[in-house]
Amino acid sequence: MTDRYCVFGNPVAHSKSPMIHAAFAEQTGEDIDYTAIEAPLDDFANTWRAFAAQGGRGANVTVPFKEEAFRLCDELSPRARRAGAVNTLVLGDDGRTRGDTTDGVGLVRDLAHHGVRLGGARVLVLGAGGAVRGVLEPLLVAGPSSVLVANRTAAKAEALAADFRDLGEIRGGGFDAVEGPFDLVINGTSASLAGELPPLPDDLFAEDAFAYDMMYGAEPTVFLRWATESGAMAVDGLGMLVEQAAESFLLWRGKSPATGPVRETLRRSL
Ligand code: NDP
Repeated sequence: MTDRYCVFGNPVAHSKSPMIHAAFAEQTGEDIDYTAIEAPLDDFANTWRAFAAQGGRGANVTVPFKEEAFRLCDELSPRARRAGAVNTLVLGDDGRTRGDTTDGVGLVRDLAHHGVRLGGARVLVLGAGGAVRGVLEPLLVAGPSSVLVANRTAAKAEALAADFRDLGEIRGGGFDAVEGPFDLVINGTSASLAGELPPLPDDLFAEDAFAYDMMYGAEPTVFLRWATESGAMAVDGLGMLVEQAAESFLLWRGKSPATGPVRETLRRSL
């Protein structure tokens, strides 16, 4: 029987994950079926259990279910435990549900593809929501000289930074506490969705700095346009999406697909 996988979200019709996993399956010769399922907002755990009972072997989880997925797991990876969120569910042969988060690995791999050196870098992370919480561990493990988390609600950034202080030099604060220069600026806010730019000083970027917006789309975001005008090299989060999917695929199927061709196909489809 073909193993079934899906992405759960609400809404989820826009998701690129079915396209990405179909490409991975074709490339690796894995016989899987991957669909998008809109889970009801009030019954995520039962939606997953019903899917598993009907041959579901695993799932990706997107907005707004990552915390609920975290809570329903029988076992959690250390990185998911720290992130407090799960974007990958794996059903074991023993019927137990294991949870992991692959967003952070996805970001760090995509940065590496773009030649960004994290070791010794001065890093600014904008935002303190779920996406940022999910990426801080692999970012800090890569050895930056410092990480500043800046958020509209300063207290959230301060609390978040405190949770990761054992892993490296990290501070949190409001946008008014931001003082450059930085070698890498990652926008993990959803401000780009509203076409807004967080209030940031003009002298933010060091020479040869890199700017990364976790959001992606057919057009560069207002953050990416501003970063380019400020002299930084600017890239959107499409590669992160493909890399986190590849890490999920590895967890499910034990195979690492090549991500470059899938990223190119996806870019053309936007
Ligand atoms: P959350 O809702 O958890 O957090 C949103 C964050 O954005 C908060 O820090 C919030 O600040 C801030 N924010 C919202 N609006 C504004 C604004 N107008 N100005 C400044 N700050 C603002 O969202 P997520 O963390 O889940 O997602 C954040 C972004 O990351 C989204 O754009 C999402 O699409 C993207 N993403 C991309 C992925 C990829 O694979 N490429 C994976 C996961 C996420 P406050 O705390 O003050 O409300």
